[in-house]
Amino acid sequence: MTSSTTTVSTTRTAPLVLALTVLVLSWAACGPGAPSGTDSAATDSPTDSPTTTEPVIVPDIEERLAWYSPTEISADLTLLTDEDRQVLGLLIEAAGYMDSLFLRQVWQGNPRLRDRVSRLEGEGADAAREYYKINFGPWDRLEEMEPFVGNVEHPEGAGFYPVDMTKEEFERWLDEHPEDREAFESTVTVIRRPPGASDGLVAVRYADEYGIFLGPVADKLREAATATSNASLKRFLTERAEALLSNEYTESDMAWMDLDAPVEVTIGPYETYEDGLFGYKAAFEAFVTVDLPEEGAALERYKAELPWLERNLPIPDEHKNFDRGSESPIRVVDEVLTAGDGRAAVQTLAFNLPNDEEVREAKGSKNVLLRNVMRAKYDKILLPIAERNLVREQVELVSFDAYFNAVLHHELSHGLGPGKITKDGEETEVRKELKELYSTLEEAKADVMGIYNLLALLDKGAIPEGLAQTLRETLEPTYVAGLFRAARFSLGEAHGRGVATQFNYLLEKGALEVDDEGRFRTVSERFPDAIRDLLHEMLMLQATGDYEGTAELLDRYGVATEELQTAIARVQDLPRDIRPIYVDAGEGGE
Ligand code: ZN
Repeated sequence: MTSSTTTVSTTRTAPLVLALTVLVLSWAACGPGAPSGTDSAATDSPTDSPTTTEPVIVPDIEERLAWYSPTEISADLTLLTDEDRQVLGLLIEAAGYMDSLFLRQVWQGNPRLRDRVSRLEGEGADAAREYYKINFGPWDRLEEMEPFVGNVEHPEGAGFYPVDMTKEEFERWLDEHPEDREAFESTVTVIRRPPGASDGLVAVRYADEYGIFLGPVADKLREAATATSNASLKRFLTERAEALLSNEYTESDMAWMDLDAPVEVTIGPYETYEDGLFGYKAAFEAFVTVDLPEEGAALERYKAELPWLERNLPIPDEHKNFDRGSESPIRVVDEVLTAGDGRAAVQTLAFNLPNDEEVREAKGSKNVLLRNVMRAKYDKILLPIAERNLVREQVELVSFDAYFNAVLHHELSHGLGPGKITKDGEETEVRKELKELYSTLEEAKADVMGIYNLLALLDKGAIPEGLAQTLRETLEPTYVAGLFRAARFSLGEAHGRGVATQFNYLLEKGALEVDDEGRFRTVSERFPDAIRDLLHEMLMLQATGDYEGTAELLDRYGVATEELQTAIARVQDLPRDIRPIYVDAGEGGE
């Protein structure tokens, strides 16, 4: 996933007046809907043994807090009716519970340690409390989950398993109790010790483990279902409320794929990254969003060009892929509120759901781009990076429209080019042949193809003139600024090699030049050819399933050269990400 957006005109409207601010700010006491004294999750946390000493705060806590730049996020609500606004208010209430749920999923000891941290005084205490909110726990998500307050080691299995359970114990249990496998590996159960026992394992459904929160969420979703006259939203909300209580999510995930409403919500257990032990367990999150019809229309125009774009790829026809089948839908929305996993630490620019393979097979998956978050990151991070690393006359040639369209076409590009291929007479897939290098190459390919396609659509006259004018002037420098942004945290990692490859290739081909001050300039005369040649190389590696060749390309170009390291060093003190303040959900302001 990359980054970016086109704002036509984000008209600010008055924040919805919601008497829910307290609910939404999940920091409040026990969190929404947690009846005090019933928080069983806080009791099963052997590593958080009560001590008389106060949890110690890392000395650079203020610096770390400054990594996240507080940023107001507002959505374009101008098209919403009174009914839409009422539904939106209910969805915001429902979403608020995801913070409390996720906090417990991160670690069962979280509510108790959070309470202790809330009573801390003295230097760094306020910053530690804020940082706790950002990270949903005492571990720094930008520093490999090292604790920033207290000294509890991060449990790999988060709050999903007993903290003293090892991988081996889990696997041994399944060997001895094969009938438990399905429940144990389910994305929507937690693993616990049987009540009162110190050994043995048992799977507990989310509906039971978290029922105290899920009941009220289901109620809110049903209320919203009653309030809306939109059939697709009514169906999703009804099905999802049912799912939270029955623990059966597939039907409601299907209904989510069909959503088409002015106000939408993605709410429930989704991503499994938080489970560092097995990657089985899904974390609760919510994205409350509003649709942007104008962006949808622009997207439809681009999608109509996809067959032409496939034909236009710089590879022989035999390698082109004209029957990729129905590709996943893309939606462009504004965020009104995120909660839970979706709000922790670094903010997502886009998400692709659901993960349920049954649903993906039946209906594909949906890619949701978050326009106002892209805008915020563009203003707070991409522009300052451009200011430091591009030659002065090109700094002003960076535009949000270019950034947004580059991201949009990055996403569309995942659906173009070789997928299923023939190698040595055998049917196979690019993914299988390129193995662990696949995603690095595929992400870099999508970056490069996104730019190649935009340049091609400009030449074809397929982009409306106003936007076309902007893109002609700003696409190249904006793309390069985006490379610095991406390289900043990923140099040395798989994804960073793909970013470095683009940068170093352009430099070698003279499409990018460095001046005496070490600032970069794109060279328009050479830029399109370099992009085409690089894309050709990448697509041929995919078309032929060439693992060795891919390794060679990444070894040759995907390196942290001195030029790149200097550029990255120059932006090290800039904020690493935004910290959203959702004004339309009643956050911020006094
Ligand atoms: Zn991608």
